[in-house]
Amino acid sequence: MKSVKGLEESKGPKDLKTSKDLKDLKDLIGELAGIQGPSGSEEQVRAAILEKLEGLADEVKVDALGNVIAVRHGKGPKVMLSAHMDEIGVIVTHIDEKGFLRFAPVGGLNPHRLPGARVAFLNGAIGVIGVEKLEEIKELKFARLYIDIGVTDKAGAEAKVKIGDTAVMWRPMEDLGQRVVAKALDDRIGCAILLEVLRLLKKPMNETYFVFTVEEELGRRGASTSAFGIDPGYGIAVDATITGDTPEAPKVALALGKGPAIKVKDSSLISHPGVRKLLIAAAEEAGVPYQLEVLDFGGNDAGAIHLTRAGVPSGTVSIPIRYVHTPSEMADLDDVAGAIKLLVALLEKPLAI
Ligand SMILES: [Zn+2]
Repeated sequence: MKSVKGLEESKGPKDLKTSKDLKDLKDLIGELAGIQGPSGSEEQVRAAILEKLEGLADEVKVDALGNVIAVRHGKGPKVMLSAHMDEIGVIVTHIDEKGFLRFAPVGGLNPHRLPGARVAFLNGAIGVIGVEKLEEIKELKFARLYIDIGVTDKAGAEAKVKIGDTAVMWRPMEDLGQRVVAKALDDRIGCAILLEVLRLLKKPMNETYFVFTVEEELGRRGASTSAFGIDPGYGIAVDATITGDTPEAPKVALALGKGPAIKVKDSSLISHPGVRKLLIAAAEEAGVPYQLEVLDFGGNDAGAIHLTRAGVPSGTVSIPIRYVHTPSEMADLDDVAGAIKLLVALLEKPLAI
């Protein structure tokens, strides 16, 4: 591990109470969300996070699969916090004679949400997703969609894009005031939260690992290997979840602006009751309103962490996001600020269940 000499005094907001603090937080989220990092190609995100970690951790390393692991030393047990760097995207499977690309999803994409979306390849090539005759299609599948990168033939396309290249949805973040809209808030918002917790955590009472993982969207792969290497006593994922607060939304008791969600269960995890209690106690101590999350689908890094070796008591702090896994994910800054406060309060005590 590379040692970082001395922790520098943090430069950004000291707390999250003023409009400037919120602006700085929005800027951080917008910067991270604006980077291209489809699963398996997280290089640009990793570079940005390594730069932002300068002076914030006692040790920083990148493991064999590309997970970034930053450590703050403390006397208490090993705690692994995890946020994933990767985002959903597309991968090119075929290029036709006219230069149109066919593609497959990378991660959980819904084809119905894609026509008209723009995608950006890692080399900067931009395309728009088109659809065959929509009115004739009963069930929209990826095979009926294509990407148009503005060329007229196959040679022109191959000069820009190769089979196997991946791309992400392409939209800048929009600042709506209290709320922001961007691609990849899942889970750059978690990455931003981990960075802010690192910055605001004055005296860690635990041996705290801040892990920025790869390939969560393909099945929590980076979390599996990094947790095995770290062998933590506790695991806490920080990730996006859905909401039930839009017209005709599924009956889910989660809404924007009502605070971070403490997970009870999803398809990959039943949160350890002791960890859940610690998270609830930390929220109450920090004066942060919270919601309880129960999903009968989905999963995140905690699903992998808790099954590591002989088992790791684990939980999740989730950020409610509307339109998750679309190019326009929406989050409320109060939920983000609440998650940061909750986690700082949690980590300033030695964890014990
Ligand atoms: Zn996620």
